[in-house]
Amino acid sequence: MAGFKTHITTSSVLGVAYGATAAVSFDVPLPSCLLASGLCGVSGMLPDLDSGPGVPLRESVAFAAAVVPMLMLHRFRRLGMEPETMVLCGALIYLLIRFGVGRLLRSVTVHRGMFHSIPALAIVGQLAYLICSHENEWIRLFYVGAVILGFASHLILDEIWSIDFSRFRLKSSFGTAIKFWGDCWWANLAAYANVIILTMIIVQDPAPDHGPIPGRKSDMIATQPPDRELK
Ligand SMILES: [Zn+2]
Repeated sequence: MAGFKTHITTSSVLGVAYGATAAVSFDVPLPSCLLASGLCGVSGMLPDLDSGPGVPLRESVAFAAAVVPMLMLHRFRRLGMEPETMVLCGALIYLLIRFGVGRLLRSVTVHRGMFHSIPALAIVGQLAYLICSHENEWIRLFYVGAVILGFASHLILDEIWSIDFSRFRLKSSFGTAIKFWGDCWWANLAAYANVIILTMIIVQDPAPDHGPIPGRKSDMIATQPPDRELK
């Protein structure tokens, strides 16, 4: 199994490359690129949230508790919330993740269970889509791509580490990171139920404006409100 440092280094390097490519090739705004790089780096730790108390769980939960409320600001604004209500909701989400989710993960997860699986990758992507509720759908998908990239890099590294290159054989852990289902039936059921429920929520979620595709300046001009075009 690849260690924590290998995972975080790989996902961070991928995140920097992802953000830099978007900034250079697609003119994505720099703050969005930096945020995407950070999301990719952190999501490289997420599958090991199932490994019990330790650095991945502690750091990921603390980071998520701090960042998720801020990523939801676009959604709060769309819901017409007052700034004070936003602060209250943000604090509530912080407490829920910091103390509720962390404790839940410690008690129900099994290492190399369904946290290391394709359904988990789908769930993380779906959650990222719902949390990163940016007005511009392309930026929103850009963030989702960053999270999926980081998470997938972890699963791939774990499988590579399951190959014993010195003896040309596969270790017993091979196939336990990239899988569609595990040994525990209720964990499989819970994973696929989550995929279905999140898909239904996403379908019901009112889509914000697609906005201009980053990097296509002609689109940006074409989508200017009529009153601005006249000035
Ligand atoms: Zn792992």
